[in-house]
Amino acid sequence: MRSDRCGELRPDDAGREVTLCGWVARRREHGEHLAFVDLRDRSGVVQCVVDGASDLRSEFVVRIVGTVRLRPEGTANPDLATGDVEVGDCTVEVLNPAEPPPFPVSDRVDADETLRLRHRYVDLRRDRMQRNLEARARVNAALRAAMERHGFLEVETPLLWVPTPEGAREFVIPSRLQPGSFYVLPQSPQLAKQLLMVGGLDRYYQIARCLRDEDLRADRQFEFTQLDLEASFVGQDDVLDVVSDAVLDATEAVVGERPEAIPRLPWTEAMERFGSDKPDLRAGPELVELGPVFAGTGFRAFAGAECIKGLRVPGQGDLGRNRLDALTETAKALGAKGLVWLRVAPGGALESPVAKFLDDEERGGLLVATAADPGDLVLVVADERSTAQAVLGQLRLDLGRPPVSTGPYRFTWVVDFPLFEGLDGDGRPVPAHHAFTMPHVDDLELLASDPLAVRSQSYDLVLNGWELGSGSIRIHRADVQARIFATLGISEEEAEARFGFLLGAFRYGAPPHGGFAVGLDRLVAILAGEDNIREVIAFPKTQSGVDPLTGAPAPVAPRLLADLGVRVLPPEG
Ligand code: ASP
Repeated sequence: MRSDRCGELRPDDAGREVTLCGWVARRREHGEHLAFVDLRDRSGVVQCVVDGASDLRSEFVVRIVGTVRLRPEGTANPDLATGDVEVGDCTVEVLNPAEPPPFPVSDRVDADETLRLRHRYVDLRRDRMQRNLEARARVNAALRAAMERHGFLEVETPLLWVPTPEGAREFVIPSRLQPGSFYVLPQSPQLAKQLLMVGGLDRYYQIARCLRDEDLRADRQFEFTQLDLEASFVGQDDVLDVVSDAVLDATEAVVGERPEAIPRLPWTEAMERFGSDKPDLRAGPELVELGPVFAGTGFRAFAGAECIKGLRVPGQGDLGRNRLDALTETAKALGAKGLVWLRVAPGGALESPVAKFLDDEERGGLLVATAADPGDLVLVVADERSTAQAVLGQLRLDLGRPPVSTGPYRFTWVVDFPLFEGLDGDGRPVPAHHAFTMPHVDDLELLASDPLAVRSQSYDLVLNGWELGSGSIRIHRADVQARIFATLGISEEEAEARFGFLLGAFRYGAPPHGGFAVGLDRLVAILAGEDNIREVIAFPKTQSGVDPLTGAPAPVAPRLLADLGVRVLPPEG
């Protein structure tokens, strides 16, 4: 139907007759019979000069035949890729008239999100959405190419599946042929990919849809996409190398530059330096240890504290009392007994309600340790180590964090996570990743005596403070798995009932293996300059899990429910 795409015409094309198809982006009258029509397709916009175009309105679908020519002297539009040319002597065929759009198709207009989603097909015509989905496709292509280059094989795994042990709430699908039984939509292909390793597939990957019935947020949807991978006969470094290569390729494909090699940060160091297991390396100074400065202090609030940590907040020494009080409230809400703040005055003196309790040496030591300059604010928390870390880690973000999608792109690996993240109500350890994660070989002996001190062979990838994904080396031996289940309080019968098929497979020759999953929506959002993953998903759900376009979720016909053996109860309460 067309010879060219609108956005690709350039001065070199002058003199050529072209046939273009697209949507009327804008029409401006020029004299009585002449109109400028901006014609839009995915490649961009070009100006067409049309005789007698009075019946053309915004978003009509048209086909235009005309001749490319240079724009008259002084009328070029430097903001438009096609701004040096226009298409003249046009004949227009209306392929389909259109009703006026519910909101203008323009990046300059900020339409209400529900309205945008209800008419997503119109919203998608906007430049921003087209760019975002193009970025997404580029990321997919780059990741695929990297996986193929590293010898991974793409395999599709089932969507109708059984519960997997990753702890998220799952979507449940009633079975018609087995009334009373249910499938579960996979929260990840975790168990399937491990079975593929037992199956000798060696290196698997998939751009996989994962489903989790959890509350929605800016960085979370019910269904999301992962680059999921698993490999046999590998150690942690092998997995990290492959994933690093893939995400750096993807970043380069979208932003045109390859970020530096991704640093590897042990979990304890991440907590000490950033107070977070997903550190945002862009957000200003790191936390510093002040224990030595106040080792012999007479200041009651500091003396005897397990940990004293400080944070320099550059240039914010002039924060008002209200803001400082609010920071103290945040600190208390996070479990701290209090928050000490000190302003560095122009001459270098410390101004603070507690300054008089510190001696000269302590004041000097504080300035040196935090490297604080006049005009800076210094925050100090003296508390249990984990509290001091968490509080200053959060305040560091609150006071210094640029939006997630603002470059530069600072990836980091966090490695050597603890195997367990804490104890549950019954005093049982809770896996930090999942129950199939291999403990650190040096820590196996601690499993029974001090489980919370056991490190795991698991690792997270973080970009600008967002967790992009996680993975681990898995347990492939029945004896180690049995020890983990025993530590978790999972009996042999329960293990058999829940994951018997996996344990069974492991008896038939499971290779050592490990893998990873990269959250694609988050990666694309950051690279596309968006703070919300909904902006990089073609048809996302709203915060309340609704699709305003299709109306999903919706009631279904009673017949359908009867076939499934399902009865809907009235809402409780
Ligand atoms: N299945 C894990 C997840 O979805 C990733 C992995 O361990 O490979 O987070």
